[in-house]
Amino acid sequence: MSAGKSIFSRIIAGEIPCHRVFENAHVLAFLDIHPLAPGHTLVVPKREVDLLDQLTPEEIGAVARVLGPLARRIVQVTGAAGYNILQNNGVAAGQEVRHVHFHIIPRRVGDGLGYRWNARESGPDDLAALAAKIAAEASIGGGA
Ligand code: AMP
Repeated sequence: MSAGKSIFSRIIAGEIPCHRVFENAHVLAFLDIHPLAPGHTLVVPKREVDLLDQLTPEEIGAVARVLGPLARRIVQVTGAAGYNILQNNGVAAGQEVRHVHFHIIPRRVGDGLGYRWNARESGPDDLAALAAKIAAEASIGGGA
């Protein structure tokens, strides 16, 4: 849980204005104040936690249910050709606002935003060992 009230909680509470595009009981979506592209939208669960893994499955479900329809609508309205869903967890991952959120970033061919990261080489033995280590945790669940 975050210490104090995040700027997004203050937006949700109506203390700070935003350009709202969608709201229900669990989720608020509004335009990013510094958009990477027209229509850049933030989708925010109303309960404030720092990281994705701190949300309940129900809260993640509430976000997941609206992400696709919202992205489709944003693409339709902006005339974009695609979109990125970006979700940063922790300072090391570039998260600035400590209230979990999803970016919907409309994209066009040649828009200059870029997205490629520097992939690392990893041998099959390393991959197999790491996969086995991660898979050994039985409590991840998620159904069948
Ligand atoms: P992140 O780096 O994933 O934490 O992204 C935080 C995002 O929140 C940035 O893209 C900011 O431009 C955006 N942001 C910060 N304050 C506001 C605000 N008051 N209204 C809308 N977007 C905001």
